[in-house]
Amino acid sequence: MSLPEFRLLRPRTLEEALDSLVSHAGTAAPGHPGDAVPAAGIRIIAGGTDLLPSMKQKLFEPQYVLDVRRIQSLRGINPVSGGDAEIGALTTLREIERSAFLRQHYPVLTEAAAAVASPVLRNMGTIGGNICLDTRCLWYNQSLTWRKGCGFCIKKDGDLCHVAPGGTKCWAAFSGDTPPALLCLNAEIEIASPNGTRRTPLADFYTGLGDSYRKLQRTGDPRLPAGVISRISRCLP
Ligand SMILES: Cc1cc2nc3c(=O)[nH]c(=O)nc-3n(C[C@H](O)[C@H](O)[C@H](O)COP(=O)(O)OP(=O)(O)OC[C@H]3O[C@@H](n4cnc5c(N)ncnc54)[C@H](O)[C@@H]3O)c2cc1C
Ligand code: SF4
Repeated sequence: MSLPEFRLLRPRTLEEALDSLVSHAGTAAPGHPGDAVPAAGIRIIAGGTDLLPSMKQKLFEPQYVLDVRRIQSLRGINPVSGGDAEIGALTTLREIERSAFLRQHYPVLTEAAAAVASPVLRNMGTIGGNICLDTRCLWYNQSLTWRKGCGFCIKKDGDLCHVAPGGTKCWAAFSGDTPPALLCLNAEIEIASPNGTRRTPLADFYTGLGDSYRKLQRTGDPRLPAGVISRISRCLP
């Protein structure tokens, strides 16, 4: 399976990244009504361990891919006052797993990061990407030919669900390993968007739906440009 054609954008600052999101966002793709990053528009890439296999399966065919890895302000694990911590969204799962500070204060998070896939994937995969990980389903994470043969489904290109025939809802499941740990820690995420930066409890970021599972836009309107998760902070209980 080959990657679809796209243009790679490599901003050095968050401001440049947000400008690109505004310039290249379009209308929501069919099958992704609540997802701000349309197939015909722009999609953020961090480690690429989730996005690139999905693009090969033609689950996403963005015209532009926004590589945020050069943005230094999105990196790092920083202790803050009161024993709290801030983690840049580009911090790799391997860095989290190996952080002595996090292991001492938040062992549930280092253990969760260590549980992800393999060392190679943890070296590339970021915590921001893990939080945004697409929901999965046996009928969805398949090649275009396979999905076409089944008549597609609600989550992408179709209007029926093979898991719950007759239903109108997508039941694809979230499978990221670090969000359950972050939820136990009452974590908050910071989302930088063209309209400013906002902080939100991670618990409010997920919708519970299989298709439009996350809220990257301030208003939730999928026609507006998405935001970039910039950092994750653990709140005091
Ligand atoms: C073989 C295999 C096994 C895997 N096993 C596991 C596992 O055991 N546990 C697990 O949790 N995951 C697993 N994964 C999924 C994936 O490797 C991890 O979830 C990883 O953390 C994703 O991070 P990434 O930086 O590579 O994300 P990417 O692929 O770069 O992006 C993933 C999604 O997040 C969005 N995104 C990324 N960064 C940001 C940001 N800062 N702001 C806004 N949106 C953003 C992207 O647009 C995309 O929608 C596996 C993947 C593969 C291929
Ligand atoms: S739960 Fe149903 S609609 Fe959602 S991905 Fe699976 S088959 Fe498609």
